[in-house]
Amino acid sequence: MKTRRDFLKLSTFGGLLPVTNFFAEQKAVTKPIVLSTWNFGLQANEAAWKILSNGGTALDAVEAGAKVPEGDPKETSVGLGGLPDRDGHVTLDACIMDEQGRCGSVAFLEHIVHPISVARMVMEKTPHVMLVGAGALKFALVNGFKKERLLTKESEKAWKEWTKKSAYKPIVNVENHDTIGIIALDVHGNLSGACTTSGLAYKMHGRVGDSPIIGAGLYVDNEIGAAAATGVGEEVIKIVGCHLVVELMRQGNTPEQACRLAVERIVKRNPAKAKEIQVGFLALNKNGESGAFCLQSGFNYAKYDSTGNSLIDSKFKI
Ligand code: ASP
Repeated sequence: MKTRRDFLKLSTFGGLLPVTNFFAEQKAVTKPIVLSTWNFGLQANEAAWKILSNGGTALDAVEAGAKVPEGDPKETSVGLGGLPDRDGHVTLDACIMDEQGRCGSVAFLEHIVHPISVARMVMEKTPHVMLVGAGALKFALVNGFKKERLLTKESEKAWKEWTKKSAYKPIVNVENHDTIGIIALDVHGNLSGACTTSGLAYKMHGRVGDSPIIGAGLYVDNEIGAAAATGVGEEVIKIVGCHLVVELMRQGNTPEQACRLAVERIVKRNPAKAKEIQVGFLALNKNGESGAFCLQSGFNYAKYDSTGNSLIDSKFKI
């Protein structure tokens, strides 16, 4: 029996183009739906769902969702209250991508509580995709964002403690990071995604991870699906993770299979390193089917559809 994958292969070589429609007709589409990484995804999904359930766009929904942990001083891995780099600076990375393939990104941005909204403005108001550092800050301030202190007393205290023992070596492990990646399909059948983080705690000053890099930390292709990544960004960048996940879905893999294959590629490249770090991928396809896969146990994500909002443990490799 031919699988969907075989049919798609055939369609590439044999010109059986109506095949995709044939399968699309067989499947009921789950929409709207929104998925977000980690526990804080539950609250992010609530904000996104308000928009999606009222017929709003996936783009507005993912921005609204991403802003929730960004603005929460208790979340130490995103936006306000994020743990700083090894020199005590909170530097933020974020990107956003919509159903038209438009995208915007900011990296190494300081002093702005909602980098995701700056990324959206880069997408909508400039001919560019990415602004970084002082240039990104200048752009944000000119466009009405307020300069704020993002280092909370608690995060400052944690950083000071860390400097005593860690002799300014950035330590990458499964605990000192987390990103919100949020992907959604709206009632109109359109996909969008957003990704925002303060990056690895105590990273080197100037370090930028995967989260603001289109194709690495986030990717959306409105014909196929969307994917978001979390974990050690360096490893995600090396395999251009989210673009890979979307391409694997294009080849006929389910979202979970696509995430698993991307994780396996990281393991294959460096099995020893893969044991020490966390990387997780979250994916959603055009039919509203979703899935995730990660390196180590402990990654979870929140899914909100017409059946409600729930936290799901991702399957893992090691
Ligand atoms: N991917 C983020 C980074 O490398 C951190 C994380 O998601 O845990 O900056």
